Amino acid sequence: LTQQLIWPMAQFGQIINMYQRADASSARIFGLMDEPGVLAEDAEGELVVEEGRVEYDDVTFGYDDETIVESIDFTVEPGETAALVGPTGAGKSTVLKLLLRMYDVDEGAIRIDGQDIREVSLRSLRQSVGYVSQDTFLFYGTVRENIAYGTFTADDEAIIEAAKAAEAHEFISDLPDGYDTMVGERGVKLSGGQRQRVSIARAILKDPEILVLDEATSDVDTETEMLIQRSLDELTEDRTTFAIAHRLSTIRDAEQIVVLEDGRIVEHGGHDELLENGGLYAHLWGVQAGEIDELPQEFIERAAK
Ligand code: ADP
Repeated sequence: LTQQLIWPMAQFGQIINMYQRADASSARIFGLMDEPGVLAEDAEGELVVEEGRVEYDDVTFGYDDETIVESIDFTVEPGETAALVGPTGAGKSTVLKLLLRMYDVDEGAIRIDGQDIREVSLRSLRQSVGYVSQDTFLFYGTVRENIAYGTFTADDEAIIEAAKAAEAHEFISDLPDGYDTMVGERGVKLSGGQRQRVSIARAILKDPEILVLDEATSDVDTETEMLIQRSLDELTEDRTTFAIAHRLSTIRDAEQIVVLEDGRIVEHGGHDELLENGGLYAHLWGVQAGEIDELPQEFIERAAK
């Protein structure tokens, strides 16, 4: 959970001040204290994203002494979607946390349109990279404020439009006070699917050049799933997207599928190509598509290593 609390905050001093009256300290709100060493060192440069090409150049990283991801090397071209797949613990979220600079790489570099992300300000980086997840942090405030989070110029109309595009308008309208309903800690509890859509609305409003998407795994009903899918398709279209992908449609349609196992890229390519290879991806796909019951033992054993 902690990582979702951490990433979007540094630039929003105003918000922090605003919500201090919600009588939780800002450090607690944003989880800053929970994960030592998590804050990458800020830099002066300004990230300028003109195309949205993202390059992992031989990246190696470990949270402490132990190497967690190693020699990660791939480039996502502007507008493409890269789906990260692999068993739990393979390093998928770690790879994406590095792009958001929750941590800095130990070796290698990540570049956006040729700029090393360590040389640009966290504020400019996080302005250009949107993050969508079901665990997105909702602070104690109105739904409206939660959608507008970080987009200070947003007017009501834009907020409602974003909510509509995210298929969230309807459920928000049904809340006791509509867009003025208090959510987050002590507020009305939203379901995972609803939080996901608030998070999508937030991203639509922000309109970042690059999107990091942690797709929901938890059960939502088929209709909600369909709604989420529709809003995500809109959001990811023509935008450089990294997805920790669980939805078959994301995976199949992604220009690149990066298959991670034990911190390394073991397969990389398009869906058809990887299916033909008959390796880990083909088997993961088989399981998800319901074609085979479970991952063959050899893969389970390898993943458990
Ligand atoms: P995935 O997203 O593929 O499930 P993760 O990137 O979450 O994989 O985890 C990769 C490995 O890194 C796991 O062994 C996990 O235990 C470890 N890990 C993840 N977060 C931390 C952390 N904050 N500190 C130390 N180890 C971590």
